[in-house]
Amino acid sequence: MNQIIASETSTALSADSALVREYLDRVVRPAALDEAAQKTYKTNIKQLMQQKNARLVAHYYTDSVLQDLAEESGGFVGDSLEMARFGRDCDAETLIVAGVKFMGESAKILSPEKTVLMPTLEATCSLDIACPVDKFSAFCDQHPDRTVVVYANTSAAVKARADWVVTSSIALDVVEYLMEQGKKVLWAPDKHLGSYIQQATGADMLLWDAACIVHEEFKARGLADMRRLYPNAAILAHPESPSAVREIADVVGSTTQIINAAKQSTKLEIIVATDRGIFHKLQQVAPEKTFIIAPTAGVDATCRSCAQCPWMGMNSLESLYSSLQETTNEIHVEPALAAQAMIPLQRMLDFAANNQLKVRGKA
Ligand code: SF4
Repeated sequence: MNQIIASETSTALSADSALVREYLDRVVRPAALDEAAQKTYKTNIKQLMQQKNARLVAHYYTDSVLQDLAEESGGFVGDSLEMARFGRDCDAETLIVAGVKFMGESAKILSPEKTVLMPTLEATCSLDIACPVDKFSAFCDQHPDRTVVVYANTSAAVKARADWVVTSSIALDVVEYLMEQGKKVLWAPDKHLGSYIQQATGADMLLWDAACIVHEEFKARGLADMRRLYPNAAILAHPESPSAVREIADVVGSTTQIINAAKQSTKLEIIVATDRGIFHKLQQVAPEKTFIIAPTAGVDATCRSCAQCPWMGMNSLESLYSSLQETTNEIHVEPALAAQAMIPLQRMLDFAANNQLKVRGKA
């Protein structure tokens, strides 16, 4: 068993933290629309989608109005693995992906014949930013004895350098499988998810040092206080959360696994440590339950997300409409790169198709 945080990259990573901050400074939150304007946009978007044979694929962390629109119009709401599968399997000519850029890239890699649009190309992810391909590739070259496993929250170029791509819903099972094959793993980019997998499996893993700015804000001390306040509540946490938070949780799982756990839980109060966008789906699947956001660093000035991904929040009805109407914000992935990235992505999809995925937790 061997868990190492990649110290080789520490200088680069402090520069990358500054880069993440730079991207955050550029985030522009869309203005709120009144109900009448929302209705008009939704009607117009639905018409355009019919004309263009387009389908909307939205992530659980996007605004509830986009999630509803996706479902009402024959599109899809899900985690990144499910989004990729839906995009590949549906018969639309155009996919409009409401999420962050790596999700649009994954859709394009899996469906090269489709036009893939996004409401904004500015929506990125701190994990993607903090794992630039040149530094990552050099790091892989230093460790040729390790199987390279990267999280889906990476650029197409980083995926192309990997042996496996995984999402949080499948990461544990893939690493367990690799461990059974006697493989040592080089993991990137999320150090918290990496340490969670390492602890759960005992695999020999070398970890890249990056984090999700949303999940990193969840605080264990505040969560323990909240548990005292709600002694009968279940606590569900995403594995991108820090280990001290995960240790308090009753269930640790991906967004889909959190939704399933909330549905199945016998508890009526549920504390959730992941992006608050998921509350829309949680309330739909378990309307009789009360969902409470886990505490973040938001009580002081250090909170960069307050349980809400700033980049997911950049997707709006207005930007979706103009992207669809003008066919702008199209995702292009260079074909040779896409073909290379497709190999580890396809490996994941084949693995998922052949395996019963599990939810890990104490309850
Ligand atoms: S919630 Fe975190 S992991 Fe997801 S897109 Fe935002 S920054 Fe990236």
